Amino acid sequence: MRALMWFRSDLRLADNPALHNACRDSDQGVVAVYAVTPDQWTAHDDAPVKVGFRLRNLAMLSAALAEKNIALKIIESPRFDGVPALLRAIAHEHECDAIYFNNEYEVNERERDELVVDVFEEDGRAVHRFTDQCAFEPGELRTGKGGYYTVYSPFKRSWYQAYKDDTSRLNPLPTPRKRTEMIGTPDSVPEAVSGFELAISAEDHWPAGEKEANKRLKDFLADRLLDYKEDRDFPDVSGTSALSPYLVSGVISLRTCYHKAIEANNGKVDSGSSGAVHWISELIWREFYKHLLVGFPRLSRHRAFKLETEQLVWNNNDDYHEAWCEGRTGVPIVDAAMRQLTETGWMHNRLRMIVAMFYTKNLFLDWRRGERFFMRHLIDGDLSANNGGWQWSASTGTDAAPYFRIFNPYSQSKKFDPEGAFIRRFVPELRDVEGGSIHDPSQIPGLLRSSLDYPDPIVDVKVTRQAAIEAFKTL
Ligand SMILES: Cc1cc2nc3c(=O)[nH]c(=O)nc-3n(C[C@H](O)[C@H](O)[C@H](O)COP(=O)(O)OP(=O)(O)OC[C@H]3O[C@@H](n4cnc5c(N)ncnc54)[C@H](O)[C@@H]3O)c2cc1C
Repeated sequence: MRALMWFRSDLRLADNPALHNACRDSDQGVVAVYAVTPDQWTAHDDAPVKVGFRLRNLAMLSAALAEKNIALKIIESPRFDGVPALLRAIAHEHECDAIYFNNEYEVNERERDELVVDVFEEDGRAVHRFTDQCAFEPGELRTGKGGYYTVYSPFKRSWYQAYKDDTSRLNPLPTPRKRTEMIGTPDSVPEAVSGFELAISAEDHWPAGEKEANKRLKDFLADRLLDYKEDRDFPDVSGTSALSPYLVSGVISLRTCYHKAIEANNGKVDSGSSGAVHWISELIWREFYKHLLVGFPRLSRHRAFKLETEQLVWNNNDDYHEAWCEGRTGVPIVDAAMRQLTETGWMHNRLRMIVAMFYTKNLFLDWRRGERFFMRHLIDGDLSANNGGWQWSASTGTDAAPYFRIFNPYSQSKKFDPEGAFIRRFVPELRDVEGGSIHDPSQIPGLLRSSLDYPDPIVDVKVTRQAAIEAFKTL
């Protein structure tokens, strides 16, 4: 038996269910393949920085596979619809008997996979699919009535129970051993893909490779896990794992993160260190949003979870949108956050909530526009987590922030960036502002204020907050 291993968002050797099974089952070698699909990536708003990260990881994956005598072939089709025929051709050329891949849950991805299944079955080749992005396959955890969970806490409780019923489920799988013979030769991995020209370099902040991802996990668990609950909300403190790009591209598995965190917490999942419990629960949020994508496919189509909120008439104000994108709203914490995004390709979670809430409640702009801007700039852009985060902030989503509970960005700034250190880092115009004025320079009197090259706030947060509440009340 010879296997064709199809890599997608699982760019690693370790704890990779499809790869593990492909290697275990085949006695006639394994061929690996990856599909470059630029127009599809554009349609999905993949950021250049994310595509760059993907290609860097792909190159390292190819080298690591070659050491195991597995050749990585690269196929290219503008969109997903060309992929099944190309996979068929590769399988035919290399005489593969079966294809192995890990499940993806977005609507286009699932449609593509069904076509691949059809083509392979038509040819009499077996198809083997695996759960990788979640501990439990979406649909496995159900409410008492048999539906998908739409509220996070009961989902989490059900996750805990299912894990306790079978803790071995999270045991990481071993890295495949070296094959005796390589089938075919590896293709060279493109260093760039047209349409995704890098505006910023992310190599220093986000080095590629499994080794780096595992080191980050190890360092986080050793140094920051215990204080995670206290530190995680402060953007100027390195209190989180910074693993999201690696999880999204599958350079490390979610299962490994769960497993190692539980191990660090003496085998406990919902008790023990509050930092560990909290971090594990963030990983479960990630999984919750994946399950929702399958339970509610309209989410992949950018529909609101709460359909009645589609009646809201959002502002269509391009000036507001541009000011937000460019980090010149006159609200320092928002501007610092947006500049962190455009300058580094990543944004701290607390800031994602602040800017998304400001966008949807104070600027009253359509969350889909903000969601798309995030996707186009994030190195960790991920439909399920991004859509979940935006719909949470906009109060249009499942288990979302209640519409009347609107963050005041100035209070958030004082609470989570008390000294203004983060603001000063990303908004150099405010570097010399002293004391509490850093949070709201519009309060600085007279000449001093006019000497700052910094705009006044584009909206009054109190007035706009009230207007948003009134708009939601009409639903
Ligand atoms: C508006 C908005 C948009 C977001 N867009 C994305 C996105 O495109 N991609 C993405 O991976 N995350 C997204 N998040 C979730 C979260 O902000 C990031 O996962 C987190 O900031 C990544 O940093 P970290 O790896 O240091 O996280 P840690 O705090 O170390 O958490 C560990 C992991 O848990 C997961 N996680 C943590 N918080 C969340 C959450 N709220 N929802 C889902 N998963 C979570 C992530 O995979 C993260 O890497 C978004 C949140 C909001 C509010």
